[in-house]
Amino acid sequence: MPMTTMTDAINPQHKLRGVGIINHAKIKIFIGIMAVVPIALGLPAKALEVQVIPNNPQLGDTISVVIEANAQEKTSNPTVTVGEKTYPAFEISPRQYRSFIPTTPLEKAGVRTIRVSGDGQEQNLSIQVRDRKFPVQRITLPPGKAGVDATAYELKRVAELKALQTPEKYWHGAFLTPNAGRTSTKYGVRRYYNGEFAKDYYHRGQDYAGAEGSSVVTPAAGRVALVGTVSQGFRVHGNVVGVDHGQGVVSIFMHLSRINVKEGDFVKAGQKIGAVGSTGAATGPHLHWGLYVNGQSVNPLPWISKKID
Ligand SMILES: [Zn+2]
Repeated sequence: MPMTTMTDAINPQHKLRGVGIINHAKIKIFIGIMAVVPIALGLPAKALEVQVIPNNPQLGDTISVVIEANAQEKTSNPTVTVGEKTYPAFEISPRQYRSFIPTTPLEKAGVRTIRVSGDGQEQNLSIQVRDRKFPVQRITLPPGKAGVDATAYELKRVAELKALQTPEKYWHGAFLTPNAGRTSTKYGVRRYYNGEFAKDYYHRGQDYAGAEGSSVVTPAAGRVALVGTVSQGFRVHGNVVGVDHGQGVVSIFMHLSRINVKEGDFVKAGQKIGAVGSTGAATGPHLHWGLYVNGQSVNPLPWISKKID
C-alpha cells in the first residue's frame, strides 16, 4: 500500500505537534497526501498492484491480469505487454482494471514476462504457462481436393469481429453451454493432412453434435456484431452469428441452419440466436462455437467452469 489511511493523516494530533517531533515516516506521509503526488516525493509507493489469474495457466487458457491503480488522480488505462503484443486493460470497478492475455496451442509452454504499464510506472511479472497435449487428427484428402476456400468478404467480416475491443463489459458471470448436444470435437485439436503436420492449424473452438434444428443460445450477453449468410458469401463459416461480449471477448457460432437475431441486437445469456445446421464447410449438422480473446481463439471451457467476471 502506498500510504497509511486518510484517517491517520487527518488525526488532529498530527496537526498539533511540531514538525520536529513527528517521526520521519509520518512527515513524508503527511506531505505526500497534501501534495497528492507521493511518487514524486520519493515515497516507497507502489502505484500498481497486479494480480494474475489463474496462477498456474496452461496453453489455451485466458490469463487475467487485474491491476489496482492506487494513484489518486485518474490517468489513462494501464496496458499489459507480453513480447511484441500489447493488450488493453479495461476498468472493471473504480480504479481496478483488467487485461486478458490469450494463450493458444500454437505457442510454446514456458515463462512469459508480463509488463504492466500505468500511472507512469512499469512492473514486470513472470508467469509459467504449462504445456498441454491436444488431441491429433489425421486427415487424408484425395489429390486436388483441399476443401472450400473462404471468400474475401467473409474473411474481412470475421476478421473485423475478432478484432473488436469494446470498452463496455456485457457479460456477467460464468458462460453457458451454447447447445445441448455432446461435444464432438474439442478445442485445440491438431491435424496432419496426408501425413504432414499442419503447424498453423488448431481447432479454434468447441463443436457440439446437436441435431439439425436444435437451439443455439448465446453463452453470455453481448451485442450481435456479425450476421452472415451463405448467400452473402460465407462459404466456409456458413450461416454465422458473432456476439461481442465486450472488453476483447467475442463468440462466433458457425454452420447454422437458421438465425434469429440481427446485427446490433443486444442479447442476454441463454437467449436463442439460431439453430444447428450444416451450412458452409461442414460434413454434418453441428455447432462450432469459437471464443476469441483479443483476436486469439482460446479454450472456451474455462469460461463455463470458472467465473471469469
Ligand atoms: Zn469446429
